[in-house]
Amino acid sequence: MGKAPAGRSITEIVVASRNPKKAAELRRLLGELPVRVIGADEAGVDLEVEEDGGTFAENAAKKAAAFARASGRWALGDDSGLCVDALGGRPGVRSARYAGENADDAANNRKLLAELGGVPPERRAARFVCSLALADPAGEIRLSVEKSTEGRILEAPRGDGGFGYDPLFFFPPLGRSFAELTPEEKDRVSHRGAALRALAEALSRLLGGRGADRR
Ligand code: IMP
Repeated sequence: MGKAPAGRSITEIVVASRNPKKAAELRRLLGELPVRVIGADEAGVDLEVEEDGGTFAENAAKKAAAFARASGRWALGDDSGLCVDALGGRPGVRSARYAGENADDAANNRKLLAELGGVPPERRAARFVCSLALADPAGEIRLSVEKSTEGRILEAPRGDGGFGYDPLFFFPPLGRSFAELTPEEKDRVSHRGAALRALAEALSRLLGGRGADRR
């Protein structure tokens, strides 16, 4: 992790994601930073970055660097997923493609339930992980953070909010699945919310103390 050049302001950050729901979450959470957050479309970037890294951090860095170089702007890459203890950490970096290359959320959720068939609640511990990397316009990674949220996998889906594995991810402190939370509730407790708050704090330090007062 390096430092941004002293005195250089970051006015725009491109969100290096083609997943509209994820991009919306990122934009909502970054909205309080003193920077303009722009989507890949607005930056005129249409890139497919292969997520072939062995870790969330590698994939986040790869996406950020590729979008930064392609747009000539600062870019935020993220990689996230679900790690289930009883499955040795799977689906992990393969979360989006768990049930196959073009698998949708429903197919991934069905596969998860099938793989955990017969596993009792006390052995269904899991965590969502989110890695974020911020690249400068030259594609150098300047900041990286990773955060996780602990929960457990339900035996049947609950709720219809969120995306991905949210209906199967039970969050004990609130007694609900992630799909039963409002977007604001999810932001407060999610891996992505935590990672973005950590990134915002680190970024505000780079920017000279602005925007550091979020909790
Ligand atoms: P990627 O970060 O685009 O590689 O995709 C991560 C995948 O992990 C998503 O497609 C979801 O399946 C899963 N995932 C990541 N974050 C969340 C979340 O907040 N809720 C539900 N599923 C998630």
